[in-house]
Amino acid sequence: MNNNEMLLLKLGEVVLKGQNRRSFEDRLVTNVRRRLKKCGSFQVYVRQSTIYAEPVNDSCDMEAAYRAARQVFGVVSVARAVPCEKTVPAIVETARVYLAEDFARAKSFKVESKRADKSFHMNSIQVSQAVGGDLAELFPSVAVDVHHPDLTVYVEIREKYAYVHAPAVPGAGGLPVGMGGHAVSLLSGGLDSPVSSWMMARRGVELEMVHFVSPPYTSRQAQDKVLELAQLLTAWCGRMLVHIVPFTEIQEEIRRKCPEEYFTLIMRRFMMRLAEAVARRAGARALITGESLGQVASQTMMALATTDDVATMPVLRPLIGMDKVEIIRQAREIGTYETSILPYEDCCTVFTPRHPATRPSLEEVRRAESALDVEGLVARALEGESWIRVKP
Ligand code: ATP
Ligand code: MG
Repeated sequence: MNNNEMLLLKLGEVVLKGQNRRSFEDRLVTNVRRRLKKCGSFQVYVRQSTIYAEPVNDSCDMEAAYRAARQVFGVVSVARAVPCEKTVPAIVETARVYLAEDFARAKSFKVESKRADKSFHMNSIQVSQAVGGDLAELFPSVAVDVHHPDLTVYVEIREKYAYVHAPAVPGAGGLPVGMGGHAVSLLSGGLDSPVSSWMMARRGVELEMVHFVSPPYTSRQAQDKVLELAQLLTAWCGRMLVHIVPFTEIQEEIRRKCPEEYFTLIMRRFMMRLAEAVARRAGARALITGESLGQVASQTMMALATTDDVATMPVLRPLIGMDKVEIIRQAREIGTYETSILPYEDCCTVFTPRHPATRPSLEEVRRAESALDVEGLVARALEGESWIRVKP
């Protein structure tokens, strides 16, 4: 490892946002700073659509910082790089030492240069030619191949220094968390809702979670599993609150007083009302669910209309057009799959009707629900609400 090694994070869509660019950059710098804190002391600043993260001392964990940087939304690529003086000999020497292992493995290479500092006396083609020529002499067994090289050496001439690095890896993309507003995500222990939460966080939405529990029908392990899922998501989203809302009385009342075929739909209407109450208190402006069209009876178009009926905030359903296979692939990629498949009962599965209505009319559902004291049930559930702060 090189002592000077640092990280270059390239900004994504942020670059396109003209007016807002400044606040995007500020937000992203703040997020990167916060996320790298656990990896040691870093100096983080932005220049020309690039965030520089430089370790301040030797005790920084560069491996961990590299991984963490790849989980920050708003970053399109991450490269580990070494700064050096802005001269051809310094650049060549830096590449020789820093990329020695890469050169040992490669049969061919090329140099690709970028000149962010337009006042530099050589243009990017001249830099590539000069550095490439010298490196070819230093590594005679590695041929220059500008079309399909095994190794590309990147040189960036920037304000103060030149930077040398091997290829960048993809970052998490999207927009910096906090730029897309604030929403409450309904998090169950299933496969879908961690993915839907992640997708909205990637669009810059700051999340708070709400989870409904039905003790004694649902277990402590089921709740812990949800907290673990939230914990896994903090690597991407940063810290968050998880609101735990008791749901037992509502489910028992529904079972006692409503027709069985509407159990799930009425239950979901209560979830919306409660989530919205939590959102209102938190100053959030939307709800997020993991619903996908047609996946189960309560996710047909008509069923969704009966739940939207009680929501006054926008309900964001990022998985609406996704296949289960795609959702599973995504869950694996973001690291929630293994936890999601742990077998604990969720409140949705406790009182599942044998023959759920798939083409419910709004009128029938409203009528079925009118047997209940909706306001009282909602108020008592909210009284029992508690919350837990989950940190990365
Ligand atoms: P998931 O895989 O996310 O559990 P699902 O396919 O099992 O989804 P449902 O159980 O019908 O579908 O739930 C639909 C959505 O309702 C979930 O994606 C989630 O957003 C929300 N939800 C369901 N159960 C709960 C719960 N106990 N607490 C909070 N939200 C829930
Ligand atoms: Mg579920």
